[in-house]
Amino acid sequence: MEKTIFMKIIDREIPAEILYEDEETLAFLDISPTSPGHTLVIPKKYSVNVFDTDSETWLAVMRTVQKIAPAVRDAVGAKGVHINSNHGEEAGQVVPHLHIHIIPRTDRSKFEFWPPQKYKDSEARETAEKIRANL
Ligand code: AMP
Repeated sequence: MEKTIFMKIIDREIPAEILYEDEETLAFLDISPTSPGHTLVIPKKYSVNVFDTDSETWLAVMRTVQKIAPAVRDAVGAKGVHINSNHGEEAGQVVPHLHIHIIPRTDRSKFEFWPPQKYKDSEARETAEKIRANL
């Protein structure tokens, strides 16, 4: 299998501003930040996204996200962070290697993210029933 760009960062084949590393995970600055300090946390064990990741790997990534988030926030003087992640091309995933974004925010201006919609009639109940049936 061809290495993803993130595997090349893990193997130090391409440069990155690495912030933290442990046995299971790596955190580094996003090369095209939404705001300064925008960080990516990835597992060293390869998976594409939430749909093929084992829970130990997922938990290891989340542990690192929780460790890194306050350091990122405080380093850039932000008040909060987005912790988000795209899973699947249709959801905006570009790099096919699991990664979680930590994006510092200093204010709510220009905050346009997931614009809310309304369910119609029984749509919420029907949608919830379908999800529960899949669990
Ligand atoms: P996504 O759209 O969720 O797949 O996000 C992929 C992210 O990877 C984008 O925010 C890119 O800016 C970032 N990215 C791509 N290549 C690199 C790289 N070589 N070093 C750091 N970040 C990268």
